[in-house]
Amino acid sequence: MAGAAGLTRLVVLGATGSIGRQTLQVAQRLDLDVVGLAARGASNDLLQIAADWPQARVVAAESGSASDELASSLGARFDRGPEALIGLAATPDAVVVNGVVGAAGLAPSVAALEVGNRLALANKESLVAGGPVVADALRRGGGELIPVDSEHSAIWQCLVGEPTDSLRRLILTASGGPFRGRTRAGLTTVSVDDALAHPTWAMGPRITIDSATLMNKAFEVIEAHHLFAASYDAIDVVVHPQSIVHSMVEFSDGSVKAQMGDPDMRHPISYAITYPDRAPVASEPFAAAGRTLTFEAPDVETFPCLELGFKAGRMGGSAPAVLNASDEVAVEAFLAGRIPFLAISEIVATTLERVEHRAVATVGDVVEIDAEARVVAAEAVARIT
Ligand code: MG
Repeated sequence: MAGAAGLTRLVVLGATGSIGRQTLQVAQRLDLDVVGLAARGASNDLLQIAADWPQARVVAAESGSASDELASSLGARFDRGPEALIGLAATPDAVVVNGVVGAAGLAPSVAALEVGNRLALANKESLVAGGPVVADALRRGGGELIPVDSEHSAIWQCLVGEPTDSLRRLILTASGGPFRGRTRAGLTTVSVDDALAHPTWAMGPRITIDSATLMNKAFEVIEAHHLFAASYDAIDVVVHPQSIVHSMVEFSDGSVKAQMGDPDMRHPISYAITYPDRAPVASEPFAAAGRTLTFEAPDVETFPCLELGFKAGRMGGSAPAVLNASDEVAVEAFLAGRIPFLAISEIVATTLERVEHRAVATVGDVVEIDAEARVVAAEAVARIT
């Protein structure tokens, strides 16, 4: 993935978001050649980042009127619209970090893999909603798909050098979110601010709410199924509040490997870019002494989203896309103060039942199912409000 000068050519999709910003910190630290930057909308943040990386092509995926200003100040290196985002992902010989939030991340993932790029994937929807489509693009384009999510990066690292038929079980760790230890009754009146106060990871609002409901872990189970060709019976979730063990793999001989470290997304981002090499990332040395690591079974009564994820994953086809779209609608409604916290899982469960189950083969199929699920989920929200 090296350019003419031997530098890694990097494209960052979702550049103004949490993953994007940390990726650019890594890029600066490792002296990478950032050749592309994209964000959802035109903003001062995007303009500022564009100024930091004067060689990069810049894309605003939504071509609103705010992008006129960017067009005039960035000139020929600026483009807008969803097609421009896909074009940027297809930049030749690049490592594409996809930190787009939402279903808009699927098409650029497919585009990056189709031209044989390395895709460092942080966009959940690519594998959750479009798992079969991404797998197909990976096969056809001969690109590489390397996870950025800390759990999947941990599993990836545990599997390096191991025979592929030796995998017995994947054990995904979950922080348990801000409501770990609460009962269902104790969650009836929790506020948006309560739910946004994640104990160990600083992330965007949707993923933080998804961590509070454990839906984020449900998505990660589905992603792990696709990334590591693991059956759902071979994937377990364990709650580990300290977020030090990022995940584990159990092998056929009973040996268990875990990957550990202080929670810092720059580590898995850096690893996805430099794999199989490792690069120096500025961080404090890990201090093991004095740490207490605890593990407990997830409370599936209080947090039904985890089971909904296993259910949708086993159904396959359109079900995971419905899971994702309905959750996004429900989380938006919760963040807007329109529905209570516990209604999120109810809306998802209802939508999973109402949207007709079918196969998924193309990005178009996913877009269609996503749109249909949003309508059904919005109806479910309207019945509550
Ligand atoms: Mg994660």
